[in-house]
Amino acid sequence: MRDSTVNSELESAAAVLQAENQEKPEIILQAENVGKVFPGKEGDVRAVDSVDLELRAGEIFGLVGESGCGKSTLSRLLLRLLDCSSGRITYHGEDITSLPRPQLQGLRRKMSLVFQDPNTSLNPRMTIYDNLARPFKIHNLARGREEITVEIVRLLKSMGLQAEHMIRYPHELSGGQKQRVVVARALAVDPEIIFLDEPTSALDVSVQAKILRLLARIKQEKDLTYFFISHDINLIRVISDRIGVMYLGKIVELGEVGDIFSEPYHPYTRGLFSSVPEPRPERKIETVLMGEVPSPVDPPEGCYFHPRCPEVMSVCRSKSPEFTIRQGRRTACHLFEKD
Ligand code: SF4
Repeated sequence: MRDSTVNSELESAAAVLQAENQEKPEIILQAENVGKVFPGKEGDVRAVDSVDLELRAGEIFGLVGESGCGKSTLSRLLLRLLDCSSGRITYHGEDITSLPRPQLQGLRRKMSLVFQDPNTSLNPRMTIYDNLARPFKIHNLARGREEITVEIVRLLKSMGLQAEHMIRYPHELSGGQKQRVVVARALAVDPEIIFLDEPTSALDVSVQAKILRLLARIKQEKDLTYFFISHDINLIRVISDRIGVMYLGKIVELGEVGDIFSEPYHPYTRGLFSSVPEPRPERKIETVLMGEVPSPVDPPEGCYFHPRCPEVMSVCRSKSPEFTIRQGRRTACHLFEKD
């Protein structure tokens, strides 16, 4: 568990992130019934299944769920790094689901990705200069070594690094410094949205708060939108405006973070939250997750969560629940269809 100093630092960094979020309801990215099936030796793997969600300008959308539930695959579908097997994705209302390669290049400038592990994100055989120069060259954002160097020095300084870091190799930098370089590379194209895939989980807890503060500052300065993926429920709680809860490739609950954390509706959300240490025991949610996550090669009939659900009903074994919307919150559970 984190000590109280680190926790309070994380919370103060998160408070800055949230304070910068203004009401901006414009939808900039939308997924409608999006699915992804990968062929596998034992059958098709449904990594993402019928996902509907929207990303609003200026918000931090947190995506939470257990490892292997499809969070990273969903983010890569939204980024168009992977093709959808079904469904539709729009960016500012334009259908980008089947965008041809030349137009995808333009989209790559609007949406960046920060991976979990800076050690695998950066090319170890390239200097920091060469790692950072690539987006400028690919997107023709600066011409010639001199212009690119000016841009790289500007980026490094804005990340709290020095110009001399550009002549070093990744292994010569600390984990926190490397992740700053990864964030700098994501910013090189001046994006509108940054997808942050567990951006602090590979770092020491003492470095996590510094990276979160950095993300807070650049969000404020550049008016960015974040799609933040994490299995760390406490982190998602403190940084997000809205969250989606994912189970076996599906979003099962989606809404404002305060609403969902104060009263989670979906039995899976309740089970997920109950596994997290709660500093205020009176708020502890007692729903224990039973059994193992089923295989996405052969998901259960009906509601995918039914073999583990403490509130399972007969309809749950045969019929997949649709989203029910109550006070802006979407929950995919037959319990709520009866109201
Ligand atoms: Fe549980 Fe049924 Fe709701 Fe699924 S639909 S979460 S099995 S009550």
